[in-house]
Parts: sequence; C-alpha cells; structure tokens
Amino acid sequence: MPEAPKVPIAASATHDYVIDHNRPDVNQNALEFIEDVTTNADEIQKRVLAEILSRSAHVEYLQRHGLNGRTDRETFKKVMPVVTYEDLQSDINRIANGDTSPILCGLPISEFLTRYIYISSSGTSAGERKLMPTIEEELERRSLLYSLLMPVMDQFVPGLDKGKGMYFLFIKSEAKTPGGLVARPVLTSYYKSLHFKHRPYDPYTNYTSPNETILCPDSYQSMYSQLLCGLCQNKQVLRVGAVFASGFIRAIRFLEKHWSLLCNDIRTGAINPQITDPSVRDAVLRILKPDPELADFIESECTREAWQGIITRLWPNTKYIDVIVTGTMSQYIPTLDYYSNGLPLVCTMYASSECYFGLNLNPLCKPNEVSYTLIPTMAYFEFLPVHRNNGFTTSISVPKSLNEKEQQDLVDLVDVKLGQEYELVVTTYAGLYRYRVGDVLRVAGFKNKAPQFNFVCRKNVVLSIDSDKTDEVELQAAVKDAINHLVPFDASLIEYTSYADTTTIPGHYVLYWELRHDSTTPIPPSVFEDCCLTIEESLNSVYRQGRVSDKSIGPLEIKIVETGTFDKLMDYAISRGASINQYKTPRCVKFAPIVELLNSRVLSNYFSPKCPKWVPGHKQWCTQKQN
Ligand code: AMP
Repeated sequence: MPEAPKVPIAASATHDYVIDHNRPDVNQNALEFIEDVTTNADEIQKRVLAEILSRSAHVEYLQRHGLNGRTDRETFKKVMPVVTYEDLQSDINRIANGDTSPILCGLPISEFLTRYIYISSSGTSAGERKLMPTIEEELERRSLLYSLLMPVMDQFVPGLDKGKGMYFLFIKSEAKTPGGLVARPVLTSYYKSLHFKHRPYDPYTNYTSPNETILCPDSYQSMYSQLLCGLCQNKQVLRVGAVFASGFIRAIRFLEKHWSLLCNDIRTGAINPQITDPSVRDAVLRILKPDPELADFIESECTREAWQGIITRLWPNTKYIDVIVTGTMSQYIPTLDYYSNGLPLVCTMYASSECYFGLNLNPLCKPNEVSYTLIPTMAYFEFLPVHRNNGFTTSISVPKSLNEKEQQDLVDLVDVKLGQEYELVVTTYAGLYRYRVGDVLRVAGFKNKAPQFNFVCRKNVVLSIDSDKTDEVELQAAVKDAINHLVPFDASLIEYTSYADTTTIPGHYVLYWELRHDSTTPIPPSVFEDCCLTIEESLNSVYRQGRVSDKSIGPLEIKIVETGTFDKLMDYAISRGASINQYKTPRCVKFAPIVELLNSRVLSNYFSPKCPKWVPGHKQWCTQKQN
C-alpha cells in the first residue's frame, strides 16, 4: 500500500518516539524510530495502555467493568473481559444512534470505519457491516505507519524516488448513521483525509493516479482513469500495486476488457465520453497527450495471444508489485507471477479497520516468508494462544468465549513464543478494549524485542457439514495440491470459493472454480475427478472419517464456472457495500443470492470418484477434540 504523508505522531505517552520529518535524513530517522520502538517494546506497550486507560478513565464501558481509573496491566487483565464485536454491538449502536456521552472512548468518536462482512454467521444478509469507532488522531497513527514503508523499502530497492508508483486505489461512497456520524471503509476515510489529499510533494510518494481519479466514487470511471494515467506514464513507473492482490488482478482484467478504448484515448489525446466526472476529466487531461506511438505499442502488446508478462511489457521499468499476498491472497501468486514474469511480490503492511498493526521489515522476502513487525506505539497488543490439533487434524481451535482464567492468560507482545500461533487481541486509542480482531498469527522471529508474525488466517471455520471443520488454511492447501492436475493442460485456477451443500443427503462440500485455460487441449472429466479426490485426501481426518466411516459427508464436488463469474461476485459485493480496496473473495459462501449467482454460471460439474484414505484408530480422541 502506498505510504503517504509525513506527520509526527500525536503528542502522547509515546511522544519520545517521533519521526522528525524536517530532518534532511528522514529515511534514516524513520529507521531509527523502528529501532527505538522495537528495542523498547515492552516499556512502550505499558505506557500505551496506561495512556489509553487514563484518558478514558471516565468512560462508561471501563466503569461498567469496574476498572476504577486503574491503568496498570495486572488490574486491566483481571477485570476487563476479552470481547468480540457482538459484545460491543449495543454500545456501538448507541453511539451510531447519536449518544455522544463517553461510552467507549474519552475522545469524541469522529466516524465509524466499516468492515464488510460477506455473510453473517446466520447466513442472512443482516449484520453485513461492522462499525468500528475511530477518533481523529488515529489518522496520524495510520500516517505514521505509512511513512515508515518507503524508508524500509529504500534499503532494498534504491532509486524509487526517480520515478512513479502506479497504484490502483479506490474510495467508496459513504453512509451516515442515524446519529449523523459518517460510516465508511478505513481506506476511503484515509484517502479523503487532508493527510492524503494534501500530502506535500515527496519523490517517494509520487503516483501516476491523480487524487481526483482515486477520489472518484464511480468505480468504473476511477479504474479507467487510473489505468489510462498509468499507461500514458508507462516509462516512469517503477513499482505497481494495489492494497490486496485481488484488486490488482481486477485492474489487469479491466485492461484485458478495455485496452482498445484506452489505446484510442492515448492515440487521440481525448478521453472516452463514458468518463463524465469533470474533475477526473480535468485531472486526466493534464497528463494525457496524443501519443500514437505509445498507443500502437500498447495495442500490439495487448493483442498478443498470451498475456504472460504483460506488466513488465507495458511498464518495462517496474521493479516490484506491491500487493498483499499473505493469507487468502496467496492463491493469486501464480496469476501475478504469470502477468509479471515473476517480479518480486512485496507485502508491506498489516492493518485493519480496528487499528493499523505493523510492517514487513524484509519486503523482498518470498511471499510465504512474509512476517510483520507490530509497531508497539499503535495500540496495546495481547495474544491468545491458539492450538492446532496436530496429528489428527490441522483445524485451528480457538475458544469462542473465554473463562476468567483464559482471559488472564493472554500473553503480552514481548512474551510471545517463537513458532507459537496466537489470535490477536487489541486495545486501541479509539475505544476497543481487549478486542479479538479475528486473525491468527504465528511468531516467525523478533526485531529487537518486538515479535514478527506470519499471517496465518482469519479465525473461522469456512466449511462444515457434520463434526468436520475446515478452515481457510486447510482449504487453501487442499486446493493448491489439487490444481497440480491442471498443469499438463495449460490451465490454472483464477479464483475459487466453496459452499457446504446440505440440500443433498448426506451434505457435501462444493467448490466453485473459475479457470484460465489457454490451450485448446480439452481437460478430460477424469482430471477434475482427480482434483476432487486430491482435495479430499488433503482435508483433515475428521472430514475423511465423515466420508469413509460415518458416511455423514457425501463426495466432494467441483463446479466449473464461466469466465468472469468472480468479477460478477465482486460487483455484487460492491453493490452491497463492499470496498474494492478491502474486498477479499469469500472462501466460503452461504448467502442464497450468491450461491444462486454461482450456480447460474456453472459450465460443468464433477464428483470425487471414491472415498479418500482414512485410517481408523483415533476416533474417540478426534471426536472429543472436535466437540
Ligand atoms: P478490513 O478491516 O476490511 O481492512 O480487513 C482487515 C483484515 O484484512 C485483517 O484483520 C486481516 O484479516 C486482513 N489483512 C490485512 N492486512 C493483511 C495482510 N498483510 N496479510 C493478510 N491479511 C491481511
């Protein structure tokens, strides 16, 4: 994600740890900041918590739980519960409905940041959006994290100040709560802020997209104009990116569909009349000049049969792709490699609507080695140990609600253990206390005293028919194994999702696959059947037991869907309030209209031809564990 403005962090308990942006060696200064805060991680965490609690000593939520103005970690851990969004829902609703008394935070809630949830746990459309309270000064914390990214990157790829970044960034229209607070995604809030819009010129934050194209609420016009500006400055582009890999691939797909219109604009120096937003037109016209030679070049590249390496062909000076490919995004790595001829994929930061967490200090590492160093000034972090039921199943087991002892057992930032997995729990300046973010992280190492985490997954069971519980990581690994069968046919998986179909008896897992199939050699049905079986073989023993012994799960099914189906799914999500920047293809769908949409585009379907292997012997243990 592109970094931006350079502002010191708000005066606070962490005020010793500031970046002086007036220093000429600002990059060095940022690196020193990272050294300082990671060396003094525990001391800073203590101060951050004390500061949050003393500022909010009078708020209703802390009083309700009997904190009584205490600001020490011990009392905090003893009296404050570890919570999820549902626990805060009624307090958040009061704020949304206009109650301005200090309910969660001592400082005024400036807006809500929305997190789009594809389906609620009940599978209905209710509760699709979560509202995260935020305060004005959080913008400064976010800006601080952004301002660390380029100094880190510059150590590995020097000279990025000599050209531009082509980033596809989008905003979403915003809503108002009944009480009048704005509710919008965190990136929309950020891009609309003065911090972003009025960022001083900085050679490291020079983008091909003018602000007007990013701030255009119409996603077609925004994408079109950003691509147009990126294409007409193609030689200057040194890095490309979007927030998540899926967003970047969407831009490439858009180019596949619209390159001839874009070439026409470049050839004539005039903009396609579909772009009607006057500020976008003006901004683009400041950049666009008739360039028939460039138009011919783009046309000849785009009309080549294969799009392999299209990024390096059209933007020949690109040094890396800046997109998140950790977590569920890892399945886009082959597609990005294909389009870029294997350019480095750089994951720079880890953040959420609740709080921005940290950054990758070794950005050129391989995607599967990415780890994020949490910056101790951002919030107070705690970690709930997570156990994998190794040996019998790889399911992640995280308790839904915690008893008193478990609440006290959360580990502090500097006390996490190498190799152990934890669920992240945050206490923020904006009024979340011991809030379970829902992400599972693994300790990969340490930068001074601060741990560095691999992102493992969002803690959720995506598929379940019976006592089986398949999470995102297992599904991803199983699909990865299966798609090896497609390699001899020059086919690859573009996107997938899954569905636990319980309308059949017994119920069964359905995977929807969208393929890219460049060659004319047809793929025989037996290959897809092998894919089904490979997935089943990779799934955990409780699943296989259900299939083989209990017969409680039917054969796994793969449904091949038409090209463009997942774009339709994204359009649908966007029309219902998802933000393009933050959109992640759901790895499991439950919401009936989405299942219908997928089913309406099925080209063919295949079932696992036989049962996967399963060795009895640990049934009782497994059953107990699963229950
Ligand atoms: P949102 O609040 O919609 O911005 O989503 C935040 C969530 O996106 C996080 O809690 C993670 O689950 C996911 N996420 C954010 N950054 C990363 C990252 N670098 N790698 C993997 N997942 C991420």
